[in-house]
Amino acid sequence: MARLRPLLAANWKMNGTRAALSEIVAIRDAVGPGRGGRAEVLICPPFTLLHAACDLCAGSGVQIGGQDCHEQPSGPFTGDTSAEMLKDAGAVAVIVGHSERRRLHGETDATVRAKADAAARAGLMAIICVGETRAEHDGGETLRVIGRQIDESVPPKSSGLGIALAYEPVWAIGTGLTPASADIEEVHAFMRRRLAALLSGEADKVRLIYGGSVKPDNAAEIAALPEVDGVLVGGASLKAEEFMGIVSVYL
Ligand code: PEP
Repeated sequence: MARLRPLLAANWKMNGTRAALSEIVAIRDAVGPGRGGRAEVLICPPFTLLHAACDLCAGSGVQIGGQDCHEQPSGPFTGDTSAEMLKDAGAVAVIVGHSERRRLHGETDATVRAKADAAARAGLMAIICVGETRAEHDGGETLRVIGRQIDESVPPKSSGLGIALAYEPVWAIGTGLTPASADIEEVHAFMRRRLAALLSGEADKVRLIYGGSVKPDNAAEIAALPEVDGVLVGGASLKAEEFMGIVSVYL
């Protein structure tokens, strides 16, 4: 089991209209009241549902986050949303550097670091995503890629509680494939060492979570890995029953 309080984050991506708020209500009711539970449960719905989701989850054990933010607080950036706006809507965290943003929106490590800095300025925890592609994995490049992404995406002045790192192999996202447990452990142990070089004493407080085809039937195996401090869940987080099949492993 993880040493740090596990972070269980749901990434809804571009899924969900107002009808899907009933799933958030069901998760909220299953998790129960109060913030001090064994695990931190965070749902990141699309921007359009953020404010309503925050209102529905107020005072409960479920918190709400964004899926991306702009690096500037405000200005002429049509279609973008700032970290300050997420905070104002009631969010406590934001995902930055998801591989879909890096790949489909051309986000670089420098962009991701600027977004993580913006999250910190706004008082949001940044969940910074890293992960290798299939070709990099097959070429034995995993640790080199993850090392570079950490060095260049993580703000060097981050506080340990102000960020979490999500290891999400690109080839495991939405595919039903997952790395062997030993490989997840190896990458997470490497991430911890790399963070220690960057953040010294703060690195021990940073949660390192795993994402990529986490489902109820592999959640217990992942939860048992000592280097893994929680999960980032995409597809299996959209329905309360399935997501709770993962969350309940930790509660
Ligand atoms: C994700 O995209 O963050 C993710 C983990 O997706 P999935 O669980 O669907 O693989």
